[in-house]
Amino acid sequence: MLGVGLAAWLSGWAAGTVSAAPARGGPAIPAPPAPVASAQPTPPPPGRPIALTVDDGYAPQVVAGYVEFARRTGVHLTFSPNGTYGRAWAPQAAVLRPLIDAGQVQIMNHTYSHRWLTRIPAGQVREELERNEQWIAATFATSSRPYWRPPFGAHNPAVDAIARDTGFPRPVMWSGSYGDSTVVTPQFLLDQARRYLTAGRIVLGHANHPTVLGLFDQITSIMRDRGLQPVTLDEFFGTRRR
Ligand SMILES: [Zn+2]
Repeated sequence: MLGVGLAAWLSGWAAGTVSAAPARGGPAIPAPPAPVASAQPTPPPPGRPIALTVDDGYAPQVVAGYVEFARRTGVHLTFSPNGTYGRAWAPQAAVLRPLIDAGQVQIMNHTYSHRWLTRIPAGQVREELERNEQWIAATFATSSRPYWRPPFGAHNPAVDAIARDTGFPRPVMWSGSYGDSTVVTPQFLLDQARRYLTAGRIVLGHANHPTVLGLFDQITSIMRDRGLQPVTLDEFFGTRRR
């Protein structure tokens, strides 16, 4: 399964075309939002997977650039958008929906308005996750369950328990980052990419500042040269959409 995906990724890149590889476990069936069938932790798949995750999205042109990068190259990745930046994501929904249906792109929950969940009442934590899930369902016709990423990485057992009870038992942190939640230079971002684009990592980037837009080809080359296969969280953890 992984080999097929890798071949599709590489050939898609070489040909400069969109990969039409089906999702792991078969073609995705367009369906109303539903929880994933299996939420049990599993080890990363064999091979050299890497899970690219792209958070926030408050700059419309950066969101558009990332979506075009996915569409153009067929790269598998996971977006973690906040509904509060819906003005940036809405224009991309029509492009993203088929990529999501094909299992190339996945959406995880990053809460609606990006607040510190450890500093607000339980009811607001629940509302942050549920409101974003409803926005994701309405915008992208998919579910973000069971995966969520706490804004600022801020969570604790109490927040995790609320998330679990809200249908989000799987907080997703990261093991590498471009460091681009704030403005950085292209050289800094590339150095981060070279350091962290290695097999088995979950890498964090942001659709907030345009620096990354000029670096997609170089990021792609790093992954290709290292034999990495970019995968979604479902592919990384062995879960699947219903
Ligand atoms: Zn964020």
